[in-house]
Amino acid sequence: MAQDYYSTLGLPKSASADDIKRAYRRLAHEHHPDKHKGNEQKFKEVSEAYQVLSDPEKRKQYDQFGTTFDQARRGGGGFAGGFDFSDFTRGFGNTGGFEFEDAFDMFSDIFGGSTRTQARRERGVDLEMELNIDFKDAVFGKELEISLDKKDTCLNCKGSGAEPGSKISTCPRCHGQGQIRISRSTIFGQMSQVSACDECEGSGKVPERVCSKCQGQGIMRRTKKLKVKIPAGIDDGQRIRIAGEGEAGYKGSGFGDLYLRIKVKPHPNFVREGDNILSEIPISFYQAALGAIAEIETVDGKVELKIPAGTQSAKIFRLKSKGVPHLRSSGRGDHLVTVRVVTPTKLSKKEKELFKKLAEESGKNVDASNWFW
Ligand SMILES: [Zn+2]
Ligand SMILES: [Zn+2]
Repeated sequence: MAQDYYSTLGLPKSASADDIKRAYRRLAHEHHPDKHKGNEQKFKEVSEAYQVLSDPEKRKQYDQFGTTFDQARRGGGGFAGGFDFSDFTRGFGNTGGFEFEDAFDMFSDIFGGSTRTQARRERGVDLEMELNIDFKDAVFGKELEISLDKKDTCLNCKGSGAEPGSKISTCPRCHGQGQIRISRSTIFGQMSQVSACDECEGSGKVPERVCSKCQGQGIMRRTKKLKVKIPAGIDDGQRIRIAGEGEAGYKGSGFGDLYLRIKVKPHPNFVREGDNILSEIPISFYQAALGAIAEIETVDGKVELKIPAGTQSAKIFRLKSKGVPHLRSSGRGDHLVTVRVVTPTKLSKKEKELFKKLAEESGKNVDASNWFW
């Protein structure tokens, strides 16, 4: 049965990040199992509640669904000790791994130094790479194949670090317990901390021969080809997170994430402004005066635009919903066309005559001698 994280921390749903941190620190301190009046069960609950509520993404998920994928998958399982990291390696969508090291941060001071042997078992590092895409691919989205060179799971040992076929024996250091207890004297009295065995990294088992390809690390550098979906409406400078496609962690302890920083190639005719697309259309003097049908290039192809008679230069026409689709929602921006009236520069003799006549007709006093020279 999943606990209510807010009531565990004694907080309302509207609690701020600071409230959560404060409540956690107070309660974790109060219930710490190695303290005289500690309560291990309470401590676990408080730590679990904090893990979720302190992470904005997990908190959002919890507020929305009343659970997190971590929680659902784990079935409300334990905290320190007997904690199997391999449960949290992959396939969590956006939640990533369960980072339970935080819970020890405040205690590492008390214990006078870091005893966090789990550090080696952290998931692999996140990667970031720049991805250049075409203007129209940013507008409409596209599936692209990328290849990246990264630390991936060792193919020989499949990440276990043990040579295939090698005998697995009980860890001599922890006798298969996977954890060791360290006791210290502190200002709070005798305290002890259970931490993962550094020999077997908490598994309780060690292989007789380590993997010859990765020297027991469980990781191997290689090139991976990956299909990625660029969402319609993405803009220059935005990042796409691909969960679990970062580097492999030590001995199968989970993958980091991959971030793709989007770089959109400029388009010769279009400029993007938010979800609107801007372009210019040159029209002649005559078209501006008499009106015309202009052909406008949009991302959807050519469309016709009626230029009314008497259109001034710099007038902007709006082509509704011909812009960029809104990222991860419905609807589209507009295409805004700015009309630029082009004054003729090279006139034939006949055209000059006609312009003069036009000028006379409109009653304008023109000095014909230095007009259009
Ligand atoms: Zn290997
Ligand atoms: Zn061990």
